[in-house]
Formats: sequence, structure tokens, C-alpha cells
Amino acid sequence: MFEGKTSRVAVIGTGFVGTSYAFSLLNQEVVNELVLIDINKDKAEGEARDLNHGLPFGAQMKIWAGKYEDCREADIVVIAAGANQAPGETRLDLIDKNTVIFKKIVSNIMASQFHGIFIVATNPVDILSYATWKFSGLPKERVIGSGTILDTARFRYSLGEYFQVDSRNVHGYILGEHGDTELPVWSHASIGSRPVLSLIKDNPNGKAELDSLFADVRDAAYHIIERKGATYYGIAMGLVRLTKAILRNENSILTVSSLLEGEYGLDNLYIGVPAIINKNGIKKVIELELDDREMEKLKHSAKTLKDAMQPVLLHD
Ligand code: NAD
Repeated sequence: MFEGKTSRVAVIGTGFVGTSYAFSLLNQEVVNELVLIDINKDKAEGEARDLNHGLPFGAQMKIWAGKYEDCREADIVVIAAGANQAPGETRLDLIDKNTVIFKKIVSNIMASQFHGIFIVATNPVDILSYATWKFSGLPKERVIGSGTILDTARFRYSLGEYFQVDSRNVHGYILGEHGDTELPVWSHASIGSRPVLSLIKDNPNGKAELDSLFADVRDAAYHIIERKGATYYGIAMGLVRLTKAILRNENSILTVSSLLEGEYGLDNLYIGVPAIINKNGIKKVIELELDDREMEKLKHSAKTLKDAMQPVLLHD
């Protein structure tokens, strides 16, 4: 899995997200072997051929359209299969159809004797991460949802634009559901060690501007889907970031969907929180000290997810 060894990633679902992730993996030379699996075999085959034709220009790796048996040797399986949001649809609207799809996919993967780490990207990602954990029977550390990794990136990008600072020097987190009830943790957002809230204290419009900045981050997928039908480049790069953190045993802190068992006073649900990621998956969930309003919003987000999770809980 690590330096000098063969590393294999299997991608289930070769749509916009799965193939953008594959393209980004290839360009960043992260793995030696990449397996593409889709219910539409021709699509997976066509994508594999197309990606292979880029190899003479860059990475040395093997890419093929495979079968579920190929997951057996995979270090990581990324699931990006299923329905995506139509214009006007929320992520939670996708639960029923994608839970049924996941039941089948996860059982096929586990039948291969897969013993690696799952990364789930399909929406609603928090609920489908829970479904993957439940259907697979794997320890919680080895089932990771992309959670708010993308929302956090959008937040950092937008704050970077607002303050005209490189977004890589912006620190902040979006917690909660990857969806309408997510929240910004203003109490811990900082740039060059200076709290964001102190940077706006002399600007009478500062708070309203930051609130509007967050609303644009939260609603970014709707704005992009209205214009181009789907979002995929940002999440693809977020998934590659997560893949590297695992394969390179980085102990990096990323906001992912993780099973909570008492952290933040929450239990038995997957939700976006900062966590330390390494070769074992989720090493530790980081509990930020939230102020009262932030905690209230996180609890509200958790309740929304729990209420929506019933279809998953009903499946054996
Ligand atoms: P898409 O429609 O382009 O691709 C979905 C693919 O899944 C298709 O190729 C389809 O054939 C395949 N598929 C469907 N059922 C399958 C099954 N049973 N087994 C194997 N493959 C199957 O969709 P997309 O734009 O790539 O989006 C994929 C998912 O990712 C959606 O749920 C979308 O909402 C989600 N997404 C998540 C994030 C995030 O931040 N987590 C961001 C963007 C999109």
C-alpha cells in the first residue's frame, strides 16, 4: 500500500465525479493501479481506454475496466455511483434510490473479500457513508465519507478571495451535513493565525458580508448545477487529497464524514467533522470547542440527518 509497493484504487461509478477523480489521480501520480467499475460496462471501458491514452504523457500506471473481484486487492474503493441531483433537487431527495443501489454495490465489494478502506462520495454522502459502514460490517475507521471536504475547500477559497490571501493560508471548517444544514465554524476560522472575526471588526458590513459568503458556499452546488448540470472537479480533487492522506499515511486533518460515538454529544450517525486521516483511515475525530450557536446548529444538522436516515436503518 505504501512506498515501493503496488497501490490499487477501485472506482465504482464512472460518471462525472468518478472519472474526474480518475483523471486527477493519474495527473497527480498517486497510485499504480486503477480499476474502473460501472453498471454501464461500455462507459467504464471507454473511460479506461481514454485515460490509458494519456499515460505516455505522464504517470506510470495500469488502468482497466474491471469487475467487483478486482476490489479484493484494492487499498481503497471510492464509490461515486448512483443518481445525482437534478436542478432543484436537494441531496436528501436522493436517499431512497441511492440506498438501494448501495446495498447491492457494497455487498458485491465485500463478496470480493475487500479488506481496505471505503471512501464514499455519492449523495446524500453522510447517509450513504452510514449505509456503507452498516452494509459492509467494516470498522468505522475504514469507512470515510467525503463529508464537508468540498464545502470546506469552497469556504477557504471564498475567504481567500474576500481577504485577497492564498486560500492555502486560510484555515477554517464547514461542519455538519454535506447539504443545506451545514455550518461555518467562525469561532475557529483564521488567516495567518489571525481570527477572521477580528479581521472584520472595523468593517460595519463585515459580518453581513461573511454571512453572505457562507450562504454562497452552502448553495454552491445549486448555483453550479443550474449552470452546467453537475459539480465534479472540486470534489474529485478533494477525493484525491483524501486518497493521498491514506496511502501516504499523512495524519492530515480533513473534514470528512465520520461515525460519531459521543463526540460533540452525538451518536450513531455519519456527519462532517475534522478528523486525522492516515493509513488506517480515520485515526481520530477532532472535537472543536464550538460556541453555543455553532453547537446548536450542529445539533440541528445532526437531527436533520437522523430524521432522513430512516430508509437506511430499515435495510438489514
Ligand atoms: P453521473 O450520473 O455522471 O455518474 C453516476 C454513475 O454511476 C453512472 O456512470 C452510472 O452508470 C453509475 N451507476 C449507477 N448505478 C450503478 C450501480 N448500481 N453500480 C455501478 N455503477 C452505477 O453522476 P455524477 O455527477 O458522477 O455524481 C455521482 C454522485 O456523486 C452523485 O450522487 C452526486 O450527487 C455525488 N456528488 C458528490 C459530491 C460530494 O461533495 N460528495 C460532489 C458532487 C457530486
